Amino acid sequence: MGIDLGGTKIAGVVLDAAGVEVCRERLPTPQGDYQLTLQALAGLVARLEDRAGQPCSVGVGMPGSVSRATGLVKNSNSVCLNGQPLHRDLEALLERPVRFANDADCFALSEAVDGVAAGAAVVFGVIIGTGTGGGLVVNRQLVSGPNGISGEWGHNPLPWPQPEELPGPACYCGLHGCIETWLSGPGLARDHRAVHGVTMEAVTVAQCAELGDTRALATMQRYMDRVTRALASVINIIDPDVIVLGGGVSNFRRLYAAVPSRWGEYVFSDRVDTRLVAAQHGDASGVRGAAWLWP
Ligand SMILES: [Zn+2]
Repeated sequence: MGIDLGGTKIAGVVLDAAGVEVCRERLPTPQGDYQLTLQALAGLVARLEDRAGQPCSVGVGMPGSVSRATGLVKNSNSVCLNGQPLHRDLEALLERPVRFANDADCFALSEAVDGVAAGAAVVFGVIIGTGTGGGLVVNRQLVSGPNGISGEWGHNPLPWPQPEELPGPACYCGLHGCIETWLSGPGLARDHRAVHGVTMEAVTVAQCAELGDTRALATMQRYMDRVTRALASVINIIDPDVIVLGGGVSNFRRLYAAVPSRWGEYVFSDRVDTRLVAAQHGDASGVRGAAWLWP
C-alpha cells in the first residue's frame, strides 16, 4: 500500500506484486490538526486493507521528510506535521513498520520501478511545480543519504549564470538565485512578468508558446536554456541513464528535444547519452512510489 500525504488530500492505493492497482481511495487532509491526520491515515489503511482482503506493507510519501537524526518531520508545507514523531506514532497505531519518503523521491522511485525509466540503472526524477523537487534512484533503490536530501538540486544556484541572472531572485531558503527561483512554476511566471510585463501562470505561458505567442516563446526559450544548464550540472555529478520530468511544466513538449540538443555544451563529455523523458504515471506516481518503498 502506498499513501500520498498531501497538504489538501490524502490518497492511498494498493498494488499487487506486478504493480496492478487493486483498490484506491482519497480523502481531504484534516487541516492543522496532527492527531486528526494520524487518525485519518490509520482509518485509510484499515479500509484499504479491508477492500484488498489482506494485510499490506505501508509506505508513505509526503512533502518534507522524517529526520533520520530526530525521527521528527521537517520541511513539510503541512506545518502542523513539522516537529511531530509521525513515523513512530503511525507505526504504533498500525502495529507494523512503515516506510516514509519525500514526495519527489516517491515520484522518482515510481518512474524507475515500473514507469518510463523502468530497467534503467540510474534515474534522476524531477517534479517541477510550485517547487523543483528531485529524487535519485539507483538499481530500483532510492538513495536517501544521511541528511535525507538526495536529489534536492533546487537550492543549488543556477549554473553558468548570465550577467542579468545575477544575483538572482531571493529564495525562501535565504539564498539568492537558487535553481528553484528560476525553474519552478512561480519562477517561470515571474520571469515572464519581469521581461514582458505580462502576468500569467507558468502553464499558461507554456500553452501560449505552443500556440505561437512570440513573447511566451521567448520566455520558454530562456526557460529551456536554464533547464539545460541546471540538468547539465546534475549529469556532471551523477551521470544518470534517464532524467524523468513531472509536474505542470513537464507537459511542454519542446523541452524533450531542445534541452538534450544543447546540454552537451555544458556536460564534461564528448557525447551525452542520458535520456530526458516525460513521466508515465503522472499524478499517481506519489502513491505508487510510496508503495514501492517496500520492494
Ligand atoms: Zn533556495
